[in-house]
Amino acid sequence: MSAPPVERPVWRRFRPRWLLRAAAHVRAGGLAAIVDERDSVQILLGLTTEGKLTELGLCALLTLEQRRFRRVKTSPLSGLALVRVRPRFRPVVLDWCARDVLFEGPTRTMPLDCTTCAACCHHADVRLDEHDLARFRAAGRRDLAGRAYVKRSRDGRVTLRLAADGRCQLLGPDKRCTIYEIRPGDCRAFVAGSEACLSARRETLGLRDGAAWDEILEAFESGPRERGP
Ligand code: SF4
Ligand code: SF4
Repeated sequence: MSAPPVERPVWRRFRPRWLLRAAAHVRAGGLAAIVDERDSVQILLGLTTEGKLTELGLCALLTLEQRRFRRVKTSPLSGLALVRVRPRFRPVVLDWCARDVLFEGPTRTMPLDCTTCAACCHHADVRLDEHDLARFRAAGRRDLAGRAYVKRSRDGRVTLRLAADGRCQLLGPDKRCTIYEIRPGDCRAFVAGSEACLSARRETLGLRDGAAWDEILEAFESGPRERGP
């Protein structure tokens, strides 16, 4: 049985004068980059009725190595979350916007079947905590807590040791995790359709979900990149 398709938010970039349009895009499920004349970037994200970021919005924020957001209380962005992007991550956000120029609408439905992909099980930085190690031992897999599978860095970080080709040693030849029931928390938290997922698919499988650079340049040369009338 194939996996159900995943609906992910589509990124758009807007000039500050089009805040109303940016807000409408985000309220409809998309994500927006507000780019001012000095190329400083703020991102606009949707919030749930409980005031939390949506799952894929939070994933995007974590990819930008940020967690905190400001809930806007004034119109036209009231009820949305605003985050100023650090300079080194501006190109990342703009690349997401460029990638998504192909897609109409605020969200995109894409087929993602983890059982035939496994891109995120390559070159992965899977951190292990005491709960993971205890889970391995409780399942009778003390070997998984040993040096063959675990790497301990001088700074105290504990991670899964990868094979020489970057593949997780615990990935089976059928692209399935051989310890799925007791897999680490980091692997459980990985979300299909997140920016980290799209990035892994691009780096490992060469699949870019959106415009290639020649299409982006064509779009750039044929009109303004920021949304407006
Ligand atoms: S990269 Fe995405 S689609 Fe592929 S296995 Fe990981 S979560 Fe699933
Ligand atoms: S432990 Fe399993 S899910 Fe996690 S990276 Fe390895 S193969 Fe993938």
